[in-house]
Amino acid sequence: MSPASDERRAQLAANLAAVRAQIERACELAGRSPEEVTLIAVTKTFPAEDVRLLAELGVRDFGENRHQEAQEKVAEVADPELTWHFVGQLQANKARAVAEYAAVVHSVDRVRLVDALRRAVAGREQPLRCLVQVDLSDPDGVDGVDRPGGAGGRGGVPPDQVAEVAGAVAAAPGLVLGGVMAVAPLGVPPGPAFARLAGVATEVRTEHPEATWVSAGMSADLEDAIAHGATHVRLGRRLLGERSYDR
Ligand SMILES: *Cc1c(COP(=O)(O)O)cnc(C)c1O
Repeated sequence: MSPASDERRAQLAANLAAVRAQIERACELAGRSPEEVTLIAVTKTFPAEDVRLLAELGVRDFGENRHQEAQEKVAEVADPELTWHFVGQLQANKARAVAEYAAVVHSVDRVRLVDALRRAVAGREQPLRCLVQVDLSDPDGVDGVDRPGGAGGRGGVPPDQVAEVAGAVAAAPGLVLGGVMAVAPLGVPPGPAFARLAGVATEVRTEHPEATWVSAGMSADLEDAIAHGATHVRLGRRLLGERSYDR
C-alpha cells in the first residue's frame, strides 16, 4: 500500500465514522433505529480506488449519477458483493446498459422510462428495484415555476402523478417498486419538502405496501431527511470530500 493510499484510507475511515455517528444521532433525535437507515456512498467524480477503500471499510451500497462513469467504475471495481444504485437522470435509451450493473434505479420519472426498464430486464433473474423520483419544488412558492434544469425543481414527477408511475412499475414484470426518492429543492429549507415526500411515500404504500424505501438526504440535508423518515441516504461530499468538479 502506498503512503498516499494509506492516507486516503485513513481520511475515508474518519469521514465514515463521523457520518455513521451523525446518522445515529439523527435517528436518536427522530426516535428511530439507525438500522432503518442505509448509507449509500455517492462516488461520482471519485475514482474506483475510493470505492474499494470504502468497501474494505464495510460500505456495501454505492451510487452514481452518470451512466458512462458508472459503467466504467463498476467494471474497474468488479466486486460482486457491492450493490450499485443509479441516482441520476436516465435516458430511456440507456436503460438497458444501466440495468446491466445497477440493482436499483432511484430516478424513475416517467412511464416511458418504466417501459424501457421493463424491456431491459426481460430474461434476467434478479428483479430491478425502481424508486419513483418525486419533484418537491413547492407548487405555490417562488420555486414552483417549471424551469427544467433551473433553480428549485430538481427533477422528478409532480406528486399528483406519482401514483401513475408507481403503478406502472408495480405492474411491470422484472421490476420491483421500492418506494420513492427525492432531491430537496434549492434555496428553501428542506424540512417542509421532506415532509411532503413522507406524505407521498405514505400514499404510495397504501396502494403498494412493499414500497417501503424513502431515498432522501444528501450531505446538506441528511438530518432533515432522517427526521422525515428517510430509509436511504445518499452521501457524497460528507463521506468523500468536495468534488473537484461539480455537475
Ligand atoms: C451527487 C448526488 C448525491 C450526493 O450529493 P452530496 O451533496 O455530495 O452528498 C445524492 N443524490 C444525487 C441524486 C446526486 O446526484
